Amino acid sequence: MSQRRLFVTTALPYANGNFHIGHIMEYIQADIWVRFQRMQGHEVNFVCADDAHGAPIMIAAEKAGKTPQQFVDDIAAGRKPYLDGFHISFDNWHSTDAPENHELARQIYRDLRDNASGSLIETKTIEQFFDPEKNMFLPDRFIKGECPKCHAKEQYGDNCEVCGAVYAPTDLINPYSALSGAKPVLKSSEHFFFKLSDARCVEFLQRWTQDGKLQPEVANKVKEWFSVRTNPDGTQSEGLGDWDISRDAPYFGIEIPDTAINGAPGKYFYVWLDAPVGYLASLKNLLGKRGQDYAAYMADPRLEQYHFIGKDIVTFHTLFWPAMLHFSGRKTPNNVFVHGFLTVNNGEKMSKSRGTGLDPLKYLSLGMNPEWLRYYLAAKLNARNEDIDFNADDFLARVNSDLIGKFVNIASRASNFLVKHFDGQVGFVGSTSELIESAVASALMTKEAYEAREYSKALRDIMALADGINASFDAAKPWILAKDESKRAELQDICSRVLHGFKLLSVLLAPVLPGLTDQVAKGLFKLDRPFKWEDASTLPTTVAPYQHLMQRVATEQLDALFEPPAVVEEKLIPGGEEIAPTISIDDFAKVDLRIAKIVKCEPVEGSVKLLRLSLDVGEGRLRQVFSGIASQYKPEDLEGKLTVMVANLAPRKMKFGISEGMVLAASHADDKAQPGIHVLEPSAGAQPGMRIH
Ligand SMILES: [Zn+2]
Repeated sequence: MSQRRLFVTTALPYANGNFHIGHIMEYIQADIWVRFQRMQGHEVNFVCADDAHGAPIMIAAEKAGKTPQQFVDDIAAGRKPYLDGFHISFDNWHSTDAPENHELARQIYRDLRDNASGSLIETKTIEQFFDPEKNMFLPDRFIKGECPKCHAKEQYGDNCEVCGAVYAPTDLINPYSALSGAKPVLKSSEHFFFKLSDARCVEFLQRWTQDGKLQPEVANKVKEWFSVRTNPDGTQSEGLGDWDISRDAPYFGIEIPDTAINGAPGKYFYVWLDAPVGYLASLKNLLGKRGQDYAAYMADPRLEQYHFIGKDIVTFHTLFWPAMLHFSGRKTPNNVFVHGFLTVNNGEKMSKSRGTGLDPLKYLSLGMNPEWLRYYLAAKLNARNEDIDFNADDFLARVNSDLIGKFVNIASRASNFLVKHFDGQVGFVGSTSELIESAVASALMTKEAYEAREYSKALRDIMALADGINASFDAAKPWILAKDESKRAELQDICSRVLHGFKLLSVLLAPVLPGLTDQVAKGLFKLDRPFKWEDASTLPTTVAPYQHLMQRVATEQLDALFEPPAVVEEKLIPGGEEIAPTISIDDFAKVDLRIAKIVKCEPVEGSVKLLRLSLDVGEGRLRQVFSGIASQYKPEDLEGKLTVMVANLAPRKMKFGISEGMVLAASHADDKAQPGIHVLEPSAGAQPGMRIH
């Protein structure tokens, strides 16, 4: 069979946060396929990159007090522990902000614009909300306001999370910028569009998406988009719409060629224009590091290009991306492999016992074997665009009873007898041709399943094979044969056949369990390399003493994995300030608090804060007290009311006169967080002059 040349990618993760379990599932799915292809002797370049551009990253960076470049660099620096931890064998990890991507994206754009049979780029002037304080056009998600349908407050500019209505940002009632709180203004701007509605594009894409390469459920979904589409305002139109590929400055992205005016920044590519170009940029970077020629590589007619993606980004990969490539004179992908979402424990939310999700780094930090997860996910994944669920009990059962019970245990059962009685020498009685033929057949069946990404079928077949091997071992009762010196050849034969079975299983499982099978190849079978697919049909000749291969999953580990993070008990600080140090009753008795009647209340000329109070404390005269409550009370609100005052406070000379005491009022320590001053008022019946005890 001739060697294939494969270029494989996973979707580029957005560089605004760490990986979640959904990313890891996609990488594992692609990695199994890639490792399988490498085992066949094919040449694979498996690459990915951080998707670094766009308004959300620009805004997140500003919040974090970093430049967007620093921000995405810091995110990129955290990728390695996940990728190494789960044995994801990317050949390269790059960034869409790298020079290769700037150059490639701009060149693809120029090629689309200057297309010989007519440009596929056009400009239109559109009206958009603009934040006058931040001086920028606002993406839909950064405009909030009242839903025009159900009048729910604080809804996003594209749809209402309460009633589900879809609308344009301009439909919102009382819109405001989520960035500054300012009222946005409508401003017109010239935007660049990729003419997806052009007859050439429609004809090409209908062919490209409906020729049978895509998964049937994906092709059917895409087909709908050719007849009807939903507009941003919720209305529907016929056929493919043109695609807005530009954004105005300021924007963290790639500047569109020939748009800068007099040195002022021009327009930028919308992040989704340059994100998939990042596949090519990462590949180009990899080939550059190896001294290989990118143009020659891409021009090789043997080259096959595949993208593993999630179901949420199908439009970008089945319409925009192939059209961009085709009409810029580039190779289009051979296929796009779409997977569903991963839910955890049936998507249950905030369960007290099982927490909220599956944190990949926590999984690793608990010492849980990454290959358990690879095996479990592989056992659930197939070629269809379907959601799968990680269920903790199912995980425990599959790993412990299938992976360990059926597969790993075979190794020790067979090798122990061979090492003890035959010095590790493998030996067969009679013909082995049937054994080899059956191994070849199993390898072929599994190969077809892996190639088609039917991993769950592959693992079902492999486990059925393991059942057969275990049954033949049990039926031969080698532990009884071992007691009879005259049955030595028979004992060696059955153990050798079972050991061969274990080797076969190991080869077939190698794409899923690269670490464990590497240990088997080198440790148990003394090879100086990992398994190749062709090892499936060769018989082992010797076996080394068995070394422990894999631990069982413990329930405690799963409990710990899903235990919600300890809630740091937030200390409540009453009123925003700590309670003052303890005093004695004698200390308190020194403060003479009296009921006072506010006889008169006037504003203080020259002060916006103070009110002048004339208080009757039952002394036959009025006291003058200044109080900083003018922001909360009008003089007429207070006149005639009773309150509490400190009657024995030393008189204080102020700018506006002498203050003979202090009126009691309550306020929060942080008057910005909780504004307001509240004058105390006794309940009915209290008389001026009464002391407060
Ligand atoms: Zn609503």
